[in-house]
Amino acid sequence: MLAFYSTNVEQDHVDFAMQAIPFYQAMAERDHFEFKATSNWDDLNPAVLKDYQVVMWLDEFPSTAAQRKAFEDYMEHGGAWLGFHIAGWMETRATWPWFADFLGTMFSGNSWPPLPATLIVDDSQHPATKGLPASFVSPDNEWYSWEPSPRVHPNIKVLMTLAPSNYPLGFKDTLGGGDIPVTWINTKYRMIYTNMGHGSKILDSPTQNKFFENALLWLGGRS
Ligand code: ZN
Repeated sequence: MLAFYSTNVEQDHVDFAMQAIPFYQAMAERDHFEFKATSNWDDLNPAVLKDYQVVMWLDEFPSTAAQRKAFEDYMEHGGAWLGFHIAGWMETRATWPWFADFLGTMFSGNSWPPLPATLIVDDSQHPATKGLPASFVSPDNEWYSWEPSPRVHPNIKVLMTLAPSNYPLGFKDTLGGGDIPVTWINTKYRMIYTNMGHGSKILDSPTQNKFFENALLWLGGRS
């Protein structure tokens, strides 16, 4: 698997990436797969991607037309993707319409400061969420809202949602309520988007870490 990250982005996002890389490196040794991390987003090209089963975006997203096109072709032809947090952020659909359809929604708003939140596990039968409790507390994170809710997209299957008990969530920036999915798949692709990924507390929950591990195993065709 190939993880993309950047070090010149928001520090809290870099902090997550710097913890996620050794987390997945240790998992790779345990579960016997090859893991590579790169900060060169131009590695999103067909010659590099053909060697990888799963691509991960830890704290950024592609910014050139060539990188985007390579990712589209990869995903349209059986590639797999795990996107964290800012990976799903896009200011306008016009920036990359294919990605808006792939994700099934658009970023709408966020909470601030980072806070823990109770997540409802919508589907505990999916291989990525199997074994999780019906709900659990996810560590400090900046939470995003989406417009429209990804749940209304015909190809989106929601795996986790912010519990109503969290609202209002945030102090400076507040998520007031409504249906705010946190983790989902687009059944047309082999992909998982999950909103966790802001700051240095994300990997503090063994329950959530189990999901991070199972998500990657599912994407890589393992169990
Ligand atoms: Zn953030």
